[in-house]
Amino acid sequence: MIQFENVNYIYGVGTTFEKQALKNICFTVESGSFIGLIGHTGSGKSTLIQHMNGLIRPTSGKIYFHDEDITADGYKKKGLRSKVGIVFQYPEYQLFEIDVLADVAFGPKNLGLSQEEAKKRAIEALQLVGIKEEQYTLSPFELSGGQKRRVAIAGVLAMQPEVLILDEPAAGLDPGSRREILDTIAHLYKETGMTVILSSHSMEDMAEYARRLLVMNQGELVMDGTPKEIFGRYKELEKMGLSAPKMTYLMHSLAEKGYDLSTDILTVSDA
Ligand code: ADP
Repeated sequence: MIQFENVNYIYGVGTTFEKQALKNICFTVESGSFIGLIGHTGSGKSTLIQHMNGLIRPTSGKIYFHDEDITADGYKKKGLRSKVGIVFQYPEYQLFEIDVLADVAFGPKNLGLSQEEAKKRAIEALQLVGIKEEQYTLSPFELSGGQKRRVAIAGVLAMQPEVLILDEPAAGLDPGSRREILDTIAHLYKETGMTVILSSHSMEDMAEYARRLLVMNQGELVMDGTPKEIFGRYKELEKMGLSAPKMTYLMHSLAEKGYDLSTDILTVSDA
């Protein structure tokens, strides 16, 4: 459904700050997949993500969404932005409405839906991320860190995107809230079957949740495979500054839990 063909991106072309953030990126995202995008800070994950809904246009190369060239002149990006929803880093900073429900309904209302329809979509999205009805009328600022983030994710879900992309969704949260947010994402993947792409510099998060991993290093896509294939190359990961020393331990503990790293979608317990 999404296809990158030889995508390059350079920030500040022709200035002293010129920086090639993406180098010849090629990959395809199949509909309904759950992909983990891993890489050290500065490896190009955010830049890559912003290409997926047209926020950034490649310096060279092509990107297709359902076989349509989204990099072509005149392509209507507005539709694309609701189909490819991005939850940016620290999304809770963008919460601003008077209460939780109004905040989540803001996007659909902006799409031109009626008040009623926008509210319906907001409620569905809030249910998917596990926010309880009694919290709908609270100010977003009364919520915990993890709850705020779930509300922000609901805001993107309410647009009913085909693809949900989350840039470091667990960044800056305490361990309990990290787990909560990642479990929420795994849960909604299971419930909706939508395509999910999750970026993180934490190998642990990825091992448990994604079935296919893409590894970025210095603007290049250097690995693409199952968690098992990728973690088997832990020495290379270590050289890229990824937390590979824990990898053997991680593989061991996941195997003990009964996961088959090559085939299972390693998601939340079915509790
Ligand atoms: P990641 O998401 O993996 O941390 P980024 O995509 O944010 O990586 O950054 C990739 C590279 O591009 C880094 O070297 C970063 O410093 C640079 N970069 C990111 N945003 C900008 C920008 N707005 N202007 C110039 N350089 C940038």
